[in-house]
Amino acid sequence: MPQNGPIILRIAVPSPLRRTFDYKLPEKLRSKIDHQTPLAGMRVKVEFGRRVLIGLVVDIPKTSDLPLEKIKDISDIIDSSPIVPSDLFSLFIWAANYYQHPLGEALFTALPSLIRKGEPAVASGIKHWQLTELGAQLDPQTLQRAPKQQALIDFIAQHSNCIEESKISALFSSAIRNQLQQKGLLESVVLENRPLATADEILQQPSLQLDSQQQTAINAIDLHSFNSYLLEGVTGSGKTEIYLQAIEQLLRYQRQALVLIPEISLTPQTEKRFRDRFNVPIVTMHSGMTDKQRLEAWLQAKSGQAKIVLGTRSAIFTPFEALGLIILDEEHDASYKQQEGFRYSARDLAVIRAQRENIPVILGSATPSLESLNNCNKGRYEHLTLNQRVNNATSPNWTLIDLKTESIQCGITDTTLTAIENTLKAKQQVLVFLNRRGFAPALICHQCGWTAQCLSCDSKLTVHKARGRLICHHCDYQQPIIHQCPSCNSTDLMPAGEGTERSEDFLQRRFQDYPVIRVDKDSTRKKGALEAFFSTADSGEPCILVGTQILAKGHHFENVTLVVILDADSGLMSADFRSHERMGQLLTQVAGRSGRGKISGQVMVQTHQPDHPVLDQLFNQGYHPLAQQLLSHRQQGQLPPFKSLAVIRAESIYPQLALDFLNLARSISEQHITSDTQLLGPLPALMEKRSGRYRFILQITSTQRSHLQQLLFQVAMALENTKKDNKIRWSIDVDPQEL
Ligand code: ADP
Ligand code: ZN
Ligand code: ZN
Repeated sequence: MPQNGPIILRIAVPSPLRRTFDYKLPEKLRSKIDHQTPLAGMRVKVEFGRRVLIGLVVDIPKTSDLPLEKIKDISDIIDSSPIVPSDLFSLFIWAANYYQHPLGEALFTALPSLIRKGEPAVASGIKHWQLTELGAQLDPQTLQRAPKQQALIDFIAQHSNCIEESKISALFSSAIRNQLQQKGLLESVVLENRPLATADEILQQPSLQLDSQQQTAINAIDLHSFNSYLLEGVTGSGKTEIYLQAIEQLLRYQRQALVLIPEISLTPQTEKRFRDRFNVPIVTMHSGMTDKQRLEAWLQAKSGQAKIVLGTRSAIFTPFEALGLIILDEEHDASYKQQEGFRYSARDLAVIRAQRENIPVILGSATPSLESLNNCNKGRYEHLTLNQRVNNATSPNWTLIDLKTESIQCGITDTTLTAIENTLKAKQQVLVFLNRRGFAPALICHQCGWTAQCLSCDSKLTVHKARGRLICHHCDYQQPIIHQCPSCNSTDLMPAGEGTERSEDFLQRRFQDYPVIRVDKDSTRKKGALEAFFSTADSGEPCILVGTQILAKGHHFENVTLVVILDADSGLMSADFRSHERMGQLLTQVAGRSGRGKISGQVMVQTHQPDHPVLDQLFNQGYHPLAQQLLSHRQQGQLPPFKSLAVIRAESIYPQLALDFLNLARSISEQHITSDTQLLGPLPALMEKRSGRYRFILQITSTQRSHLQQLLFQVAMALENTKKDNKIRWSIDVDPQEL
């Protein structure tokens, strides 16, 4: 590029417009950058309309479509070098194209908020504590009366006299640290990238001796180039141990690992296992962090200081200095797909990112998604299997209980109650699963049949007895519980059906000598509730754990030997084409909490449809054969993953406006469509009315992914350029998880 000509910068700004904007780099700002010419991925300030926005340089084109004199100068340049490394930057561009989302918005929603606000992108280093000269030569007699202080000195001495603060905090109180500091024995230092000196330093705890299945799996993983692995291992088969050992190998050649999990706060055991095993800086990335913590973790990953990043969905956009491996646990989990705004799938992007950076990716699950199994069938992913539990723990025994033929109290049959009682008497733990929170899913008038409905949604209000409220689980509308029927004035109003609060209530009255602990979104809102749950569950004392799908998340409780699924029917009746897959996954995951220790486990499933083919296949053959069967149904029905699917969504408080908009989308589509692509709709969404808005979709399916992409692109551009009523919200959802 000529040194003296004007430099044009093509810039993405956080705007819903699907385009970039050209600006010029004024002479006076050139000295602010490291290189002679700017690079993509640097932040700049630009005047945009009447506002000043922070934008990202996307490209430095040789020419612009606009005449030079019409191009404005940027107002300032924030970074002297790119804050988003080029490989990550190209992933963003790929994702914005694939998910049909404006690049500026995609970039800006995925970056830490302080970066979006223009905060400097410089890592401050990681706080360590080291022994002073005095501390290192201390006579052990000196601290005889202060054994804890001596223990901390010994601990640091075992780690070459210097260790991260987070490792100390896990074991020693800050008071002990401060006492030693005051005595001049200890000092804090902020260290930047500390290279790992020897292999011994990587591990804090020795790794486990792998069993032969685990060994075969890990031997198959090539850490040196791109490859996608699907690690399908039954619950308790030791998948996490494989992740840990793959990372250990990787750390030996100074690379970093990204580990994605669906949830961090609900699964503290996972984080603990990583921290216990490794003696390297580990950072977490999740929504529960402050902006400052998030920025710090992001910068530590980018600078290479953090060797392992453990994060939820959006951590797929973490920059790394030397990424060497991506692991995505519970790959079937729906939370990997963002359901609003920039609707990306972190699972699919993990594979794309690994491919672009030529590194391996391991997707792990006991119940893989049909998409991933299909990718194995097609030879795109290598399929690794662990079909037995470690330490000879046996897989649980299933029993189906027919709700039609049994006497029932509060949704629980006598057979189930007897099994619960026997388990508690044997000093073991019981887990009771019900995927409905609240006391009861409806409030019904016994005289006239009226039910309390949400006025804004196609949904009933849930009774929350402890809080004395009726709550809509879709829009969060709340009102006090009413005691008189608004339709017939009768006072005979009754909660109908069971939620977790009611089951807890009933079980606690029935089994008064044992603790009953409820775990759901309501109970865990209280501070300390989750800790109390884990401490009781971990203690192994006999108790009943009642809860929603939070209980299905990879927990490992040695003494749970009975899992009860109160209602398997809801998943069998949904109209969503993924409902059977989801139900198979959920039941298998919940059941997998049983019998993980020395005693074998039992699973009791209550249903009105004991002969349902899905239940039958799941119990008699297991998840994998069920999944293969469901895949062949998908193939016959020409559903994903055998066809690519996208939907255009529109919603409005005026249903006709949303429908008109999608009819327009349909007619634009018809102008561009190819013969391998079909349109369906506009149709009402599965829940037509939510939060006061009527929701519709236009489905587009194709056997040719690229044709679908081209069509979507053209439709998106055309829709963006039509004059729109601001009473309509619309979006494009590629590979939707919900309809
Ligand atoms: P998964 O992730 O498949 O559910 P985990 O990795 O959590 O399985 O393993 C289940 C339990 O077995 C854990 O307590 C783990 O420490 C233990 N474990 C895993 N692999 C081994 C092994 N090779 N030897 C002994 N114990 C193991
Ligand atoms: Zn009534
Ligand atoms: Zn509602």
